[in-house]
Amino acid sequence: MYKCKECGYLHWLEELPERCPKCLSKGEVFVEIEEKAENKIEESLYTNELLIELMDNLNKVLDISAEGMNEKLDDDCYKLFTRVYKNSIEMIQAVKAEIAAHVEDDKWG
Ligand SMILES: [Zn+2]
Repeated sequence: MYKCKECGYLHWLEELPERCPKCLSKGEVFVEIEEKAENKIEESLYTNELLIELMDNLNKVLDISAEGMNEKLDDDCYKLFTRVYKNSIEMIQAVKAEIAAHVEDDKWG
């Protein structure tokens, strides 16, 4: 695995491109990543995918609850959808914070 020195893009393929696909820098911009760092990234791949999938589904719950709030069928429904809406926002922010922590801890790539 190689990393672009300019922008941090990670290249998984053996053959290096002429230019970095992210920042378009060319020349000797790629450095090989140490095995330990590479293992750390690979070990966190599935969990990161789950976090992204979780955020996608929480965004769907957010949309559904917003629609439910707009319907205002009765007070109890409105309160329930409002609670779900607020909880979804909090959970989305918690997932984002976890992803940010992974990026900061080099568990992303
Ligand atoms: Zn780059």
